[in-house]
Amino acid sequence: VKRNACEPEFHQAVKEVLESLEPVLEKHPEYIAMGIVESIIEPERQIVFRVPWVDDSGQVQVNRGFRVQYNSAIGPYKGGLRFHPSVYQGIIKFLGFEQTFKNSLTGLPIGGGKGGSDFDPKGKSDMEIMHFCQSFMTELYRHIGQDVDVPAGDIGVGAREIGYMFGQYKRIANAYEAGVLTGKGLTYGGSLGRKQATGYGLVYFVNEMMKAKGMSIEGKTVLVSGSGNVAIYAVEKIGEYGGKVVAVSDSNGYVYDANGINVETLKQIKEVERKRIYEYIKYHPSAKYYEGCCSGIWTIPCDIALPCATQNEINEEDARILVKNGCKVVAEGANMPTNLEGTKVFLDSGVLFGPAKAANAGGVATSALEMSQNSMRLSWTFEEVDAKLKDIMINIYKNTSKAAAEYGLKDNLVAGANIAGFVRVAEAMKAHGVV
Ligand code: NDP
Repeated sequence: VKRNACEPEFHQAVKEVLESLEPVLEKHPEYIAMGIVESIIEPERQIVFRVPWVDDSGQVQVNRGFRVQYNSAIGPYKGGLRFHPSVYQGIIKFLGFEQTFKNSLTGLPIGGGKGGSDFDPKGKSDMEIMHFCQSFMTELYRHIGQDVDVPAGDIGVGAREIGYMFGQYKRIANAYEAGVLTGKGLTYGGSLGRKQATGYGLVYFVNEMMKAKGMSIEGKTVLVSGSGNVAIYAVEKIGEYGGKVVAVSDSNGYVYDANGINVETLKQIKEVERKRIYEYIKYHPSAKYYEGCCSGIWTIPCDIALPCATQNEINEEDARILVKNGCKVVAEGANMPTNLEGTKVFLDSGVLFGPAKAANAGGVATSALEMSQNSMRLSWTFEEVDAKLKDIMINIYKNTSKAAAEYGLKDNLVAGANIAGFVRVAEAMKAHGVV
């Protein structure tokens, strides 16, 4: 705790994993004896840097940039970049730690990493975003590479930002290294299906989880928090499975539409106009907007809740309200959106609970598919990528539930994901010796 002082999110993530690993460590004392548990908690490398840039009024702004290269036991570091004012070392470390196990769960050869900046993209002009991204990459470029560390998007980083960063990397490195970033545009090495992957993957996971219990998404009422990349495509896929999403949100409030959220309107507001979710009621006057962040959305009765905004957006009380109102399924599109107490409420109440590491792994899995296409200098069709994504999500569900059952923790997918993700990395670390 002293070594990672003032990093509550990091402590929370580590605590959850270590608690789940108790039965594994009893069976495999060598993981402790060989220092694997201690090593896996410690990032391999942490980079912190200055990001100076000039805003539209000619004023110099200085932000802080981060890249945490967490674990490369099973492949090059891989994980997104987050641009949000709340970003500091503890957030990036918790995300990198989680990413290591998530990437392992995909079964693909990718290690764990994460990065970002306390830069706030909200209200910035296109020029300001470009200047910031160029300055950020001017330092980051020396630490990444297609076989070293491959960043992608996360909160506040989408195709526009990846494009500006790729352009700057290409210029400085004097190399067309398509695989150095993922989430790229389709004209320069991006993969069809990447934009949709996290949201679609989440719903494929929910479908598997429900099918195993003789349930289905069809006819169910669903809440999706957030209205960004993950949320939009979760809403779309839920609709395709016959469910109805009645609410989405942002950090200012939420929209309730009893007729079901119109996904085309959502895309128009968020992807084209880059506006706030409040605008939704201008297109659909019968919908209602409720101001306030962020628990309000969880008071709406639902069958399925999909938190897709940010960490710790469901606390113990939110969880109790969801359960009381009949919620039977929760799956995490965001990273660590449910706090430890909230998770316990869901598990104790018999709610089917899909933890982030497993349920939102579709995005990074498809990023790894983008890397494969870049290495082959080929592009797969949307259908090919989507079919692979679906297979990967089905396998993650199977491996997660199998690991839980193997350790007598049937239906506890939190433990199952932590165990299955850990064992693959731990075995690779064991093989590599003390490095
Ligand atoms: P976006 O930036 O596209 O969207 C984020 C959404 O969450 C916005 O609606 C935003 O609202 C809301 N939000 C962000 N921070 C807060 C906050 N502090 N309080 C309330 N609402 C907030 O990000 P993504 O959709 O890409 O990411 C969402 C989550 O999914 C994150 O936890 C991310 O780590 C995780 N994730 C993303 C993947 C991806 O492929 N994109 C892959 C795996 C996980 P506002 O505009 O008001 O800030």
